[in-house]
Amino acid sequence: MVEHHVRYDDGTVGQVDGMRVPRYAGLTTFARLPRAEDVDSFDVAVVGVPFDSGVTYRPGARFGPSAIRQASRLLRPYNPALDVSPFQRSQVVDAGDIACNPFDIAQGLDQIQQGISELVTGGRRVLCLGGDHTIALPVLRALHAEHGPLALVHFDAHLDTWDTYFDAPYTHGTPFRRASEEGLIVKGRSAHVGIRGSLYDREDLIDDERLGFTIVHCRDFDRLGVAGILDRVIERVQDSPVYVSIDIDVLDPAFAPATGTPEAGGMTSRELLGVLRGMRDLDIVGADIVEVSPAYDHAEITAVAASNLAYELVSMMSASAS
Ligand code: MN
Ligand code: MN
Repeated sequence: MVEHHVRYDDGTVGQVDGMRVPRYAGLTTFARLPRAEDVDSFDVAVVGVPFDSGVTYRPGARFGPSAIRQASRLLRPYNPALDVSPFQRSQVVDAGDIACNPFDIAQGLDQIQQGISELVTGGRRVLCLGGDHTIALPVLRALHAEHGPLALVHFDAHLDTWDTYFDAPYTHGTPFRRASEEGLIVKGRSAHVGIRGSLYDREDLIDDERLGFTIVHCRDFDRLGVAGILDRVIERVQDSPVYVSIDIDVLDPAFAPATGTPEAGGMTSRELLGVLRGMRDLDIVGADIVEVSPAYDHAEITAVAASNLAYELVSMMSASAS
């Protein structure tokens, strides 16, 4: 397939040329980009992390990477909102999937950390397609080893700073408590955006603040709008290397029905794309999009939203990588 890829003057290999091979044809890589092994070196890797052994409700996010790749066939080379051709400015590749043990969470997390460490050596950027939210912890461990403590912008309906479920410390509801305890993120430089829905106790909010987070509730959008929300986020995380974690359930179930723990009253896709684009000047060193569970999808609604969000993240990372 490599002979059908666009080749830019400086040798960068782009997507399979959509004017020569129809976009619904051929084997599936993210945005029809080359595989990591097809090029000499790369700046940004998109990698699948098909691990969902940490879920507490609906399963199935292990199939997220393949659904997002399938929906990404329609992504074109020029991003007008950011005025950038991400696949020309940097070498972006699909690094395949990290094979992780579905029967042993500790081993699965080690395999994910190892796989991500290899991809981010030398400051290369990575976008992880989950998988459930448990995967954010080993990804943060790998990025911390490369960059030191990170600012975290976490889009989610849920805090994901609970302590344990059924005494288990590593689940999709606990990654950011563990990350805070392990010193992977900078206290006072992290934010949750889009939080809503019921909690176990009022103490959940107090606990979360103690761990170093600020909360932008989804209901704050009614009053502040996208611009006001952005001001709060940028002020919080600027001047640090940033990790962006997107739980697809931050979107309203109308925009992302295919997820494990849906909550009403969420963000629209347009709001989330707007907030992301407003973060273009941040130094984003890594990101994930998690909790896409395609068995609950209809007409690829969720997978299309996830692939478009992935495109914005890659566009921004291609700027900071080049
Ligand atoms: Mn969530
Ligand atoms: Mn989550």
